[in-house]
Amino acid sequence: MPRIAIIAGAGPAGLTAAYELLKRTDIIPIVCEETDVIGGIAQTFNFKGNRIDIGGHRFFSKSDRIMNWWFNILPRQGKAAADTVEKKHDIEYATEAIIEYLCKKCMTSGQRSAVSGQHEMQITDRRSQIASQERNRESTIIRRPSPDPEKEDLVMLQRPRISRIFFKRFFFPYPIGITLLVAKRLGFINTALIGFSYIWRQMFPLKDETFLDAFYRNRFGDRLYRTFFEKYTEKVWGVPVNQIRADWGAQRVKGLSLKRALTHAVQDLFSSDFKKHQKERETSLITRFWYPKFGPGQMWEEVARQIRCCGGEIRMGTRVVGVHLKEGQVTSATLENMTTGATEQVGCDVFFSTMPLKHLMGMIAPYPPRRVIEVAEGLQYRDFLTIGLLLEKLHVQRKDGGVETAVPDNWIYIQEGDVRVGRVQLFNNWSPYMVADRKNTQWIGMEYFVNEGGDLWVMDDKDLIDLGIKEMETIGMIKREDVLDGCVLRIPKAYPSYTGSYPQLKVIREFLDAIPNLFPVGRNGMHRYNNQDHSMLTAMLAVDNIVAGRTDKSNLWNVNLEEEYHEEKNERYTKFRI
Ligand SMILES: Cc1cc2nc3c(=O)[nH]c(=O)nc-3n(C[C@H](O)[C@H](O)[C@H](O)COP(=O)(O)OP(=O)(O)OC[C@H]3O[C@@H](n4cnc5c(N)ncnc54)[C@H](O)[C@@H]3O)c2cc1C
Repeated sequence: MPRIAIIAGAGPAGLTAAYELLKRTDIIPIVCEETDVIGGIAQTFNFKGNRIDIGGHRFFSKSDRIMNWWFNILPRQGKAAADTVEKKHDIEYATEAIIEYLCKKCMTSGQRSAVSGQHEMQITDRRSQIASQERNRESTIIRRPSPDPEKEDLVMLQRPRISRIFFKRFFFPYPIGITLLVAKRLGFINTALIGFSYIWRQMFPLKDETFLDAFYRNRFGDRLYRTFFEKYTEKVWGVPVNQIRADWGAQRVKGLSLKRALTHAVQDLFSSDFKKHQKERETSLITRFWYPKFGPGQMWEEVARQIRCCGGEIRMGTRVVGVHLKEGQVTSATLENMTTGATEQVGCDVFFSTMPLKHLMGMIAPYPPRRVIEVAEGLQYRDFLTIGLLLEKLHVQRKDGGVETAVPDNWIYIQEGDVRVGRVQLFNNWSPYMVADRKNTQWIGMEYFVNEGGDLWVMDDKDLIDLGIKEMETIGMIKREDVLDGCVLRIPKAYPSYTGSYPQLKVIREFLDAIPNLFPVGRNGMHRYNNQDHSMLTAMLAVDNIVAGRTDKSNLWNVNLEEEYHEEKNERYTKFRI
């Protein structure tokens, strides 16, 4: 009898677990996904050929293991994309890709033909040793020229990252740094007051840093905090900043200090080439990231295809509704067909969960201790809503009276207090292939941080689209007559919140740690603000543990605690994230 793993959720963590199990063990994964979409939060939603990426997923990681894993599925571009020349993007092209397929069958005939012809294809059939020694799987490694995005679909694009803050109808660079432009837009007196308020806070720091407001004020001074952090953080979480634990902010701003930024600014003032240094500092805000040709979901659709090809199972429209323990181990799970309501109990040797911890705790039988349930029920989430607007053009009013019909940003943070939209995504700039008619339309996503069941959540789609249009007109970015079409996407539990019973999370952790074959992985699966890379790493480490026969799960829980993860590679200057 083959060993079986049931995996709840076909998002990045669940699919990574399934892929790694197939690659490195004899365990057959059965992935259950309650929706009919692959990719979880990292899916690509397709609206009449115009694609939405929920939240905008940069493929960026400090872990080489993750970067190489991604490039193995979608190799880096070897030629220009459709918009490279016209947008004057500076791309580092790859020349060659070495790809290891899970098994021989994974390579489609299209992929085969892409490597034949003038470039000789090298195929190595490798008997990869599987740790358990119970079965050998043939994987296939090929060496091929890097793909041309104009001719092939399975390709990772390199994109420049440009995002700005929109505040007081001005654009500010993001992450915000102390530059001449920023000082000019904030007003020189205001900038000086920001400096004084910072010095004041350095002299008299707040002693209790449990909550985020104190954490920010101690690092940036009260005035800069009020200008750039307070309102936006409240928009994201929907609660006052003094009720949010500092852990979340700590993940984002550790290692950054206003002192360093001010030192740089003063050095600039006394340098012989002031303007050049200012310019350099502003261009240093432009970094690059990797992005699948058709958005993040493309990565996960291809991973799902390979899993299916190699004997793994992915059951769509199937929700895990029960997890059964015998003698302290998971022995089976109850699966519900979302269309028919029929249930089935399936035996398993290992269980992976990427579902919200709150849900998992409610479906374990026998029931977990009361205290565990109480903590689980107290976990809170923030939900997310995107309004997609298809426009003939933008209509961004500049302060000098000019109008821009397109902007270079991937996304814009909206700090304005007179609208509820938190961020605007510009999908044309993520990938030209995200938009059906990229030359004649602008495809944008207005993002709202909301609560499930709240006024925006229950609002009719038509009214939401109308609200979106009104808000974009209010801040002077579009004109109603340019709107061609629209759609709405609601994402429950997009953010595990560091409020509610989060400080008692260890009660749940201790309970789960005592079940050796149950692995909580991913973002909501661990109630951790994990990006794709960390969500994937937890799944990979869980498989490492299975291969090594390790039952201690501390390595999973330690992912995303290291502070250097949250600063960008090669970051030269001090900047602040909101
Ligand atoms: C606004 C926003 C921006 C982001 N930006 C980035 C970024 O730039 N870069 C980056 O790398 N990451 C980013 N992320 C994070 C990234 O989306 C997550 O890390 C990743 O999707 C988490 O993967 P996961 O598999 O743990 O969970 P999910 O993606 O949530 O997938 C879980 C899946 O499980 C399914 N499920 C739940 N319960 C059950 C059940 N009982 N039975 C069966 N199926 C179930 C769900 O339907 C879902 O498909 C962003 C997230 C958000 C919200």
